Amino acid sequence: MKLFDVYPINDITIVKAKGSYVWDDQGQQYLDLYGGHAVISIGHTHPHYVQRITDQLNKVGFYSNSIHIPLQEELADKLGKLSSRPEYRLFLCNSGAEANENALKLASFHNGRKKVVAFSKSFHGRTSLAVAATDNPAIVAPVNQTDNVVFLPFNDEAALGAYFTRHGEEVSSVIVEGIQGVGGISEASAGFLRAISRLCKEHGAVFIADSVQCGYGRSGKFFSQDHAGVDADIYTMAKGMGNGFPVAGIIIAPHLQGKHGMLGTTFGGNHLACAAALAVLEVMEREQLIANAAQVGDYLMTELRKIPQLTRVRGKGLMIGFDLPDELKELRKNLLFKQRIFTGEARPNTIRLLPSLALRRKDADAFLDSIQEEIHAMALNTQP
Ligand code: PLP
Repeated sequence: MKLFDVYPINDITIVKAKGSYVWDDQGQQYLDLYGGHAVISIGHTHPHYVQRITDQLNKVGFYSNSIHIPLQEELADKLGKLSSRPEYRLFLCNSGAEANENALKLASFHNGRKKVVAFSKSFHGRTSLAVAATDNPAIVAPVNQTDNVVFLPFNDEAALGAYFTRHGEEVSSVIVEGIQGVGGISEASAGFLRAISRLCKEHGAVFIADSVQCGYGRSGKFFSQDHAGVDADIYTMAKGMGNGFPVAGIIIAPHLQGKHGMLGTTFGGNHLACAAALAVLEVMEREQLIANAAQVGDYLMTELRKIPQLTRVRGKGLMIGFDLPDELKELRKNLLFKQRIFTGEARPNTIRLLPSLALRRKDADAFLDSIQEEIHAMALNTQP
């Protein structure tokens, strides 16, 4: 049987990984500033993470949500402390799309309404309502199309206010990424987030902060919305939560009530997933990785801004983007195949950096040297 061909892949096979580095089957080492798409939060194969998962696997790997799983309570407790939201409630699932799907559904159960407000260039996942709230018609199948989602311009407080004035009582939820990832590293402004929060409160709508990519410490605070001093009603989380183990969740403000059967999942919150998620939080706390993300991220952005060929260096913490001029459009490929550095992209011309939150300054320096070397080499090659 062949694989269903949906991914454009790089011709590289990774067989080993440690910290911010990975190795291919030829023994070639790569610096990983992509983290498998913002997933590697505490670094590859962290010894505490490997040990905790191994220990758990030797005890019990899985049982369903029909019994007590004290690890879930332990995880909720730790997450409450680290996110400074002990009064919220945790629901565990398996992926970012599933987290958003559950958040949107819960909001609708809560207020009995149907309209979802999403924004231009948003990405919320590939399942039914999550993809309907994603601003990319190419990945929305006819069966996912719905009049229940309305797209407004990102960071446009006036447009949002005008919409709420006309339709506020129909809005079930507003879903927004604190920093758009797939959309090209665009920060929601503090004013915009505050307007969402205020309008949702005034009109009985639910504010959903999609923190799947920008959350879990990546921005240098636990949730990127914390930079604006704003509380959402529901935060959705995935990627960095399990450092590669598929685990996701939503945390829910106390005024949203649950009832039996309202949400559910077979795999979500299983023993092994909780062990992985706990290991991540333990390492984040012990090694102060959120502060590290803030410091190394600031340093990287300051230094990248000194490279004249790179424009619009932006982001927060270790969620960084910059744009390339046309003559450097091959830079990302050259970084991978010549300099042996993984980075991410966003169309049409943005490089995204989404490394482990444990990235060291000397690895940031290695990247800065390599990118300058490559830009220089590309300039020499294009000279007549
Ligand atoms: N939300 C955001 C902001 C994302 O970046 C992604 C994935 O890139 C998702 C949701 C979907 O997550 P998953 O691929 O785990 O379903």
